[in-house]
Amino acid sequence: MEHVTGKTQKVAGCLFEPPGNYRQDKEYLLLYRDSDTVVLLNRFPYANGHLLVAPVRHVGCITDLSDKENCALSCIVKKSAAILKAHLNPDGLNIGCNIGGAAGAGIADHLHVHIVPRWDGDHNFMTVLSEIRTIPEHIEHTFDALSPFFNNL
Ligand SMILES: [Zn+2]
Repeated sequence: MEHVTGKTQKVAGCLFEPPGNYRQDKEYLLLYRDSDTVVLLNRFPYANGHLLVAPVRHVGCITDLSDKENCALSCIVKKSAAILKAHLNPDGLNIGCNIGGAAGAGIADHLHVHIVPRWDGDHNFMTVLSEIRTIPEHIEHTFDALSPFFNNL
């Protein structure tokens, strides 16, 4: 509820470029960072455990990535999905990205991949990638639950 009541601190600059070089940083909901990629918990999740995976470099489209960056991004998407499956036990996952404002990207100038855990019987099936959100569980609790597994990557 913190974002609804306006208590959540605004992140300065690009959401997908948390300052500093920390591998994890709870203040920015940064679960993982290496030289090519970051994994963030979505502060405005569609579902519990909704992750945002992005290249470190500020580019808007997969066609802007080097082959190395593209492979690194694909690799960390897979590892992130594995962590969600192992520790949140979803019945399914939505994995995808919206490229460009016309495609529904909320932040169009920095490519990011959504990974959304899904459970049988959850609702709003069609809204996952169109940035419509439900009220989250407490985001810090989810961060604490997932962070050890990303720390071990
Ligand atoms: Zn950026």
